[in-house]
Amino acid sequence: MTIVQPGLLMERDVPITNFSGNVPSVTAKRVYAVRNGAQQNDWRQGVKNLQRVVTDAEQAGETLRGMGTAWSFSPCAVTDGFLVNVLALSRVLDVWSPQDLEDPSELGSVVLVQAGARVGAVNDYLMQKQRSLRTMGGRGGQTIGGAALTGSHGSQIDQRPIPDQIRGVHLIGRGGESLWIEAASRPLVTDGWAQKEGMKLVRDDDLLDAAVVSVGCFGLVHAVALETVDGFNLDFHRVRRPLSDELRALMRTLDFGAGYALPGGTGRPYHFEVVINPYATAAPDGVSLTVCWKKPFAVPPPPPGGGSLQPGAEVGDLLAALAGLAPGAVPTTLQLLLNQQYPPKTVDAPFAIVFPRNVPVGFKPLAAELSLPVAQADAALQVILAEIDASRAQHQFAYPGLVSFRYSQATRALIGMAQFGPTVTIEFPCMAGVSGTGDFFRRLFLRLDQANVDYRRHWGQINFLNPGRVASDYGAKLTTWKAKRASVLGASASLFRNAYTDAVGLTA
Ligand SMILES: Cc1cc2nc3c(=O)[nH]c(=O)nc-3n(C[C@H](O)[C@H](O)[C@H](O)COP(=O)(O)OP(=O)(O)OC[C@H]3O[C@@H](n4cnc5c(N)ncnc54)[C@H](O)[C@@H]3O)c2cc1C
Repeated sequence: MTIVQPGLLMERDVPITNFSGNVPSVTAKRVYAVRNGAQQNDWRQGVKNLQRVVTDAEQAGETLRGMGTAWSFSPCAVTDGFLVNVLALSRVLDVWSPQDLEDPSELGSVVLVQAGARVGAVNDYLMQKQRSLRTMGGRGGQTIGGAALTGSHGSQIDQRPIPDQIRGVHLIGRGGESLWIEAASRPLVTDGWAQKEGMKLVRDDDLLDAAVVSVGCFGLVHAVALETVDGFNLDFHRVRRPLSDELRALMRTLDFGAGYALPGGTGRPYHFEVVINPYATAAPDGVSLTVCWKKPFAVPPPPPGGGSLQPGAEVGDLLAALAGLAPGAVPTTLQLLLNQQYPPKTVDAPFAIVFPRNVPVGFKPLAAELSLPVAQADAALQVILAEIDASRAQHQFAYPGLVSFRYSQATRALIGMAQFGPTVTIEFPCMAGVSGTGDFFRRLFLRLDQANVDYRRHWGQINFLNPGRVASDYGAKLTTWKAKRASVLGASASLFRNAYTDAVGLTA
């Protein structure tokens, strides 16, 4: 380990994989760990360190990747070039005065957060201020940078995904150039502030919409400006239900007035999520239904006896229990485990603490995830259940996981997966390391294509994307994304890429 300069450590020839270990290990020529200075206002040292890493990579003629928590299941974060770990750049930067913002009334409602901050930590900070993110994923352990750059989302049905909360991006680009990117239609910072911080201010709606889901290909993200809302609670209800025709109708219409009885209230909830045990679709309790209602902000007292406020086991915790089982035993045991791990729960707590923080313990998760128009949700479910059956019958493969339906509004990010308004995202959370899972996903994607289901794939999950597919998925938006990338990187376009981004046609 070498100390390059204050707050910048470097190690050579480090094997790199992702958190789950499903991505084949590659040896990064250098891995940098970047820190701020010790004082709160020393965040500029973190910027200098990122700039130094960029110029090192340029001088060495190497590619450069940022890495957050490496929660992505695709190889988007690994590289055989130079890698920079941004986890220590995790501060909320209290840098603005009213005169630094175009609209001074946004002070406090838009917060500047370093890209390595974990979503859960951002939530905690905001909760203290009685403010909140509008949306997050199912867990809060990933970095805000990594979550946004891959287009991650949750199931807050009337909200756009995580990247859509970003109003400005502080990017370190070619030659260590410090760029502040924001929308021309909604300027955030003043020219004076950008100038004072030595940032080149670029106001361009398309560039912002490209940079927020860049899969790390526009440069190193130092910080993002997040738009927040007044703090609120969620009245969280998780119950067991059958996969009835009425529920299936709701899943493909989001028509909450059609009479399906939701737990805890009536009308349109804030959060709606359906997790299906694919081996118990005829059972009275084969579905975990989670519904959350928005309520006024109130932090509850700590639970007695050291209990947890978390509303219950998430999908991954269920799979932790499955990890010790032979794949052939999965179908007969999945329902029992679902029953044990998904007891009905009700919790009323701030958004910030309703969802768990960390990865499930005791096993390595894996997932693929697709987004599609809500109207096609049931058509997709039919294909999925048929392929799970066919895989057992024809390939002796029991898909070792669940099928989760979550919802959002369309993203404005050019290549964000949630292209539909509204979008349903279907996730396949399962165990890593089970032979045959990749082939299963390939067969499933083919079946969905054959059934004319119009879907996009998560950049940070198992996806088997290729340039042709990405081009047809995003069309003119991809062309704009590439043009905006070229406008930022110019002749240095080969700097911020890796084998994955080349293979999917983003950077080759
Ligand atoms: C347990 C678990 C639960 C999950 N739940 C959800 C969910 O609910 N919804 C959902 O949509 N996804 C979910 N995912 C997927 C996950 O949110 C995404 O893959 C996300 O990218 C992970 O964030 P990260 O910090 O680990 O990023 P990484 O995997 O480290 O990186 C992601 C990408 O961003 C780039 N990058 C990261 N930081 C920077 C930076 N500062 N500058 C430049 N480039 C950078 C990397 O190069 C890479 O291309 C889950 C994954 C796990 C393991």
